[in-house]
Parts: sequence; structure tokens; C-alpha cells
Amino acid sequence: MRQQIAAANWKMNLTYDNAEQLLDKLLEKSYTLNANRKVVMAVPFPYLTLAVNKVKGREGIFIAAQNCYTKKNGAYTGETSVEMLQSIGVEYIVIGHSERREYFNESNAFLAEKVNIILENNITPIFCCGESLTIREAGTQNEFVDNQLKESLFHLSAEQITKVVIAYEPIWAIGTGKTATSQQAQDIHQHIRSTFAAKYGHDVAQEITILYGGSVKGNNAAELFGMQDVDGGLVGGASLNADEFATIINALK
Ligand code: PEP
Repeated sequence: MRQQIAAANWKMNLTYDNAEQLLDKLLEKSYTLNANRKVVMAVPFPYLTLAVNKVKGREGIFIAAQNCYTKKNGAYTGETSVEMLQSIGVEYIVIGHSERREYFNESNAFLAEKVNIILENNITPIFCCGESLTIREAGTQNEFVDNQLKESLFHLSAEQITKVVIAYEPIWAIGTGKTATSQQAQDIHQHIRSTFAAKYGHDVAQEITILYGGSVKGNNAAELFGMQDVDGGLVGGASLNADEFATIINALK
């Protein structure tokens, strides 16, 4: 069975004390996790070590960074290398979030470099893709997402691509309260899987975890995650509330 993942994206929120309280509250909740049913928490950089230490020894819970740089090390003031993240126990890195693409001009080619250095360090990239409202209204979302996948990921081998988690996040649904319907999510997830199948073959495509992101909440997660090609979610706002995020975790297949 493909891995099912509930991934939290805290974005640039919470103070240290708030972060610690949220982690403690979430870790008190009950949910069944295992090798195929995981929680990944993308917390801000200053709280990574705290979070890694809190989840130590907990089966199925991992910590992610929300970004990294493309270079191994050197004179890049303010940046964080993958090697640094690996050295503190970070196991996933979110890349290509639409906010980074929009506010920090991250291109598909730049993201290809990030994917390479992340995989070289045996960390799992969570690669975000997804279209704007204008593209959705023009009906060209499949082609747009295909191009993001091709330009950032298609240089990878079949073995490498199965180590990448995809997060499909329509920009019009992020932080807007406007969720894609479960059928809209299923349709594009199925399309993404068929794009991988055309490049890497059916069996490889079946192994790739594809998360949905965009206003996932406790009350819509089960319906979204119940769709055949939706393997969990990347959750922003609702991941800042322990009760809500625990409900989302429990909605995983
Ligand atoms: C996100 O940050 O990736 C996201 C999907 O946010 P929200 O759940 O708040 O829409």
C-alpha cells in the first residue's frame, strides 16, 4: 500500500512557547501510525530541534523543514543547507510551496536543484505543485501541473521518483476556505499519477504518494482522503489546532 501522510505546514506562525504547547497537545492525542500511515510536521526553522526531540521514539511522526537552499555549504548568508537539516534529524523538506514560488520567485529549474540535493542527503522532498484560479478557470490545470512536474522532477530515475512525495495544492484553495471538491481532487491526482505512469511506468506511479492541500479541515478530510488517488493532505491553517489536526490524522486511509 502507498504511504498515507497527514502533513502539517505551520508556515511562519507561533512563538517558541506556542509551538511547544501545540506539539505537546498533539502528541497526547491518540491515532494509529505505522510505516504506511504517517504524520509529518513542517515547523519553522527555530523550532526544528525542539520538534525533532519531542517526536523522538514516536512511531510514524517525522519533522520537516519548510525550505532549504540548493548549495552544499558556503558564503550564502541567511540560507540553510540540507546537510544542516539532516544533521539535526529532519527527515522531510517541503519545497515549491506556492508561497515560495510567488513571493521568492522560485522557478521549476531552481526546484529541480533542490530536489537533487535533498535526495543526495537521503531526505524526502515534499514537492508542491498546483495552479492559480486563472489557470483553473481556463481549464488548463492538467497541462500546467504536468509542466511543473516535468521541469522539476523528470530528470530523476524511477528509483528516485518513488522517494518524492507530491503535494497537489490548487493556489485558489490555499488559506481561502475554498476546498477543491473531492472529485476535483481525485481527477487531478489521477491525472498526475497517469503523467508519472507515462514517464516511469504503471508500477512506479502506483507507489508515489500524492497529497492534497488547500483548506483541508477536520470536517472534509475523510471525504478527500477517501478518494482513490488522494494519499493524505498537506494542511496549513487547520494544523495549528491540535484537535483539528488529530481529526485530520484519523481521517487517513
Ligand atoms: C498550505 O499551507 O499548504 C495549505 C494548504 O494551507 P491551508 O490548509 O491553510 O489552505
